[in-house]
Amino acid sequence: MCGIVGIVDAGGVSHPLYYALFALQHRGQESAGISTWDGSSFYKFKGMGLVAEVFTKETLSELKGHVGIGHVRYPTTGANLPENTQPFNFRFRDHHFAIAYNGNLVNSAELRDAFEQDGEIFSTTTDTEIVASTIVHEFRKSGKIEEAIIHCMHVLRGSYSVILMLDGILYAFRDPVGIKPLCIGTTENGFVVASESVAIDTLGGTLVRDVYPGELFRITGAGFEAMQIAVADRKAHCIFEYIYFARADSVMEGKLVYDVRRQIGASLFDEAPVRADLVSPVPDSGTSVAIGFSHHSGIPYLEALMKNRYTARTFIKPSQKEREQAVRLKLNPIIGHIEGKKVVLVDDSIVRGTTSRHIVELMKESGAAEVHVRIGSPQIIAPCYLGVDMPTRAELIASTRPVEEVKDSIAATTLHHVSLEALVKAIGIDRENLCTGCLTGKYPLSIEGESCLSRSIDFVVGSYQAKLGSFPPRTGAAK
Ligand code: AMP
Repeated sequence: MCGIVGIVDAGGVSHPLYYALFALQHRGQESAGISTWDGSSFYKFKGMGLVAEVFTKETLSELKGHVGIGHVRYPTTGANLPENTQPFNFRFRDHHFAIAYNGNLVNSAELRDAFEQDGEIFSTTTDTEIVASTIVHEFRKSGKIEEAIIHCMHVLRGSYSVILMLDGILYAFRDPVGIKPLCIGTTENGFVVASESVAIDTLGGTLVRDVYPGELFRITGAGFEAMQIAVADRKAHCIFEYIYFARADSVMEGKLVYDVRRQIGASLFDEAPVRADLVSPVPDSGTSVAIGFSHHSGIPYLEALMKNRYTARTFIKPSQKEREQAVRLKLNPIIGHIEGKKVVLVDDSIVRGTTSRHIVELMKESGAAEVHVRIGSPQIIAPCYLGVDMPTRAELIASTRPVEEVKDSIAATTLHHVSLEALVKAIGIDRENLCTGCLTGKYPLSIEGESCLSRSIDFVVGSYQAKLGSFPPRTGAAK
């Protein structure tokens, strides 16, 4: 997971980068960082914590320049070290190079090993440094960044959305199957490329479109141009972005995530109708799904739980005990809405089952007559190797238990998960163009020890190589 952003802006980039990172905070709460370039020097500031904790007016005022990149990092087990905080800045001969990365490589151990055999040293445990080394090695040979990125797409296996800043020019590219999101927009005085469109909205900008899978953008103050450098026979957009991860007000692949989730809610009612007094979301992740459920069923939408907005997401707590404590801190039952009522509780997903178990218990303690749990995703049965922080199979409550057993385990009156068919329909992208690894255990790329889809993805990299440099911009802004 993680959120990335790159901005070119005639009016200076430190504040826009800060606001964009703020809008992307849900994609990572462990650390935040910004690197900028003023035409001759690099500036950077990064630290552990939330965007608002890391930066101050003073630190922002020192981030000079009209071009820069930013990153928010999601905690992944064992790796929440200050040195892993991005962006990373490198100097190479006379070049200045900064990188922000979102994704996960499945061949990083191999790549790292090959570099280390050659005597290369690494200062972090991130995939980002491997991507940077891969690019710099090739760049050293050809002096052409586009060729270095083509090479990168040949050797990297996994998900990657990357924003680079090389000597004050921004480059942004997405893996050939588009697993992680990335989109581009314009602002009054410049251009922005970001993980989600909400970052562009926050700057008062206009979303132009998603960066296509396998596409490379080159962005300067004068405009941007796009080069399609890898072409795959299908895509593999992460389905979990639509279920949970993306902000509901983001537009991804042309779909407003909020509306996708409302449609999921309607399908949940069609698939498992229920008579009840009220529909309540588990805030905030279940809200748009619950609204869809309520509109479609006619059952009143009434919150049974109030969220304390000042607690970070519970999932970020490392131990089970701490996670349970955090759920209690986070959600308070509104007893007056619950007592004696048949309640439909709607959430986006069940991972370990901690949240649902606790919330059903809260409902019962608050006097609910029945608690019907409706979940906006199919059962999560398998880990994610492509960038979503999911636990191992052993920790996933649904990896070995059918729905009926999970229902008993969380003590719900009834439990229903939306079907994969209805979910795919709500997203509006063909199933074969979505990565459903966590829901099916079948992955679009080959991953050691896991089964790959019968028709795995083939892609051609560099087929547009000859056109590099003269590839016409598909869209662009004349500024
Ligand atoms: P659990 O208590 O482990 O079942 O977690 C389920 C809750 O965590 C759901 O309500 C989701 O909103 C949220 N969630 C699901 N997946 C993730 C994730 N990868 N990172 C953080 N939170 C998540």
